[in-house]
Amino acid sequence: VKENGRNNFRFFTETMQQEVHYSLQLENRLRVALQLNQFLLYYQPKIDPYQQKVIGFEALLRWRVGSDEFISPSDFIPKAEEMGLIISIGRWVIEQSCRQFRAWLDAGIVDESMSMAINISIKQLQHQSLKSTIKECIETYQLPIGCLEIEVTESIMIDNVEHIIKLLAELQEMGIKISIDDFGTGYSSLNYLRRLPIDALKIDMSFVRALHEGEQSQAIVKAIVSLSEILGLTVIAEGVETEEQLEFLKGLECDFIQGYYYSKPLDETKAEAYLVDFKKQ
Ligand code: C2E
Ligand code: CA
Ligand code: CA
Ligand code: CA
Repeated sequence: VKENGRNNFRFFTETMQQEVHYSLQLENRLRVALQLNQFLLYYQPKIDPYQQKVIGFEALLRWRVGSDEFISPSDFIPKAEEMGLIISIGRWVIEQSCRQFRAWLDAGIVDESMSMAINISIKQLQHQSLKSTIKECIETYQLPIGCLEIEVTESIMIDNVEHIIKLLAELQEMGIKISIDDFGTGYSSLNYLRRLPIDALKIDMSFVRALHEGEQSQAIVKAIVSLSEILGLTVIAEGVETEEQLEFLKGLECDFIQGYYYSKPLDETKAEAYLVDFKKQ
């Protein structure tokens, strides 16, 4: 038993060492990833299922570490936030997505009614540079009002609420659309929704995934859709993968749909092809 215990202990410390080693390696690689041009954006279409129209895209960050090897944003974004690197990475995302949208506008691939959504972490919202970065990009790329959208999570309401509300209101005044991402998974009270200057709710995909399980999850999704209606917000469901999920959501008159059912996130070229093909359907 003792022998066993010692082995376990050794195994444990080795694992910890490996983890520390991995984490340091990740940190060092992340620190140079921007300079090495290892980031790129993928774009996932958002669809109006009633008019069969692409209404815009969500830009999703990819970190390419090998010719065909990617590290998932869920694995490196928390680290980038911890290191403060999310500010410069986030600036790159804002710039790159605005540049892309401008190029698509110029090419006639998208129009001014469509939008590009980017994910903004709480660390970025708390940083004093966010507003000027967005402003500069909008001016540089002459983006029409309403074409840029930011997705933030309920976690932004953790503290300094008054400051966040003011900032979001200022961004909205600049013509930026604001969505609450992963809606329903946070801990905040529903009361804040009335006070937040926002345009849309994104139903978290965990609820969509659970729809087939029965009445309870269906009731949650239904409640979020009616809440949006009452508050005058747009509602979009994410993580929609099946025909059944789509039909259920259409039955509720959920405004927009995003998910593998229509398309995975696509690189620039494939996103363009998707738009062109979609129009032909
Ligand atoms: P998110 O904003 O909730 O994005 C949705 C995630 O679900 C994306 O994962 C997307 O690829 C995936 N997804 C979309 N449709 C489906 C579907 O039908 N089924 C399933 N199973 N998954 C689907 P991804 O790209 O790995 O991103 C993970 C998270 O990383 C994002 O979650 C977001 O929180 C964060 N993230 C991604 N890009 C950025 C960025 O540029 N900045 C910041 N701050 N965070 C980002
Ligand atoms: Ca998002
Ligand atoms: Ca989400
Ligand atoms: Ca509505």
